[in-house]
Amino acid sequence: MIYVMMGGPATGKGTRSKILSKELNIPHISTGTMLREEATQNEELAKVLSEGKLVSDDLVNKALYKRLKRADCKNGFVLDGYPRNLEQAYALEAMMRKLNMEITEVLELVIPRALAFKRILERRECPNCKKVYGVDFPPKDGKHCDNCGSELFARADDTEETLTKRIEIYERESKPILDYYRKKGILKTVDSSRHPEKVMETI
Ligand code: AMP
Repeated sequence: MIYVMMGGPATGKGTRSKILSKELNIPHISTGTMLREEATQNEELAKVLSEGKLVSDDLVNKALYKRLKRADCKNGFVLDGYPRNLEQAYALEAMMRKLNMEITEVLELVIPRALAFKRILERRECPNCKKVYGVDFPPKDGKHCDNCGSELFARADDTEETLTKRIEIYERESKPILDYYRKKGILKTVDSSRHPEKVMETI
């Protein structure tokens, strides 16, 4: 059960990936979350992330391979935020071969651009349990995590300027990957502008 979740910023791929991983009882692996954790101890990396640029393939590939080798991935995983370009898609193929695994399906979530802006500017995250809130799932008191009560924060890269750049990067770098997976016959496109429950039904 190896699912690759694709989609531009604010298409809901993080939230949908978490739900899918819970339902299938397999880990949710987000390279963005992995890198943000690493960035708390690495100023240079923190700067790259806050500018909305992509981190070097070499760094992400190594970190991901290390993660996929762990025992909890043996029944599969939901991959979120990777691959981001064709080089990474090829690197993932190589990792799969080495681990004797195969991608089950690639799901691309799509939404109109205006909705992406609305979702991004309202997105808040819990620094403690990592729960993400937004238009569809607002926190009960508007400011604190429903689970653990921590004060929520807006991600440093959730600004209008950075979002425009991230959408451009996604369209330029990630679209060729979709063609690659389409040709392999494992790509499914999902309209993610509908209510989250409807989207999950489709997934
Ligand atoms: P995300 O949480 O997936 O939106 O990722 C947040 C940021 O982490 C991105 O804007 C990139 O700077 C970085 N990042 C995440 N995944 C990758 C990846 N596969 N390759 C390069 N950079 C990545």
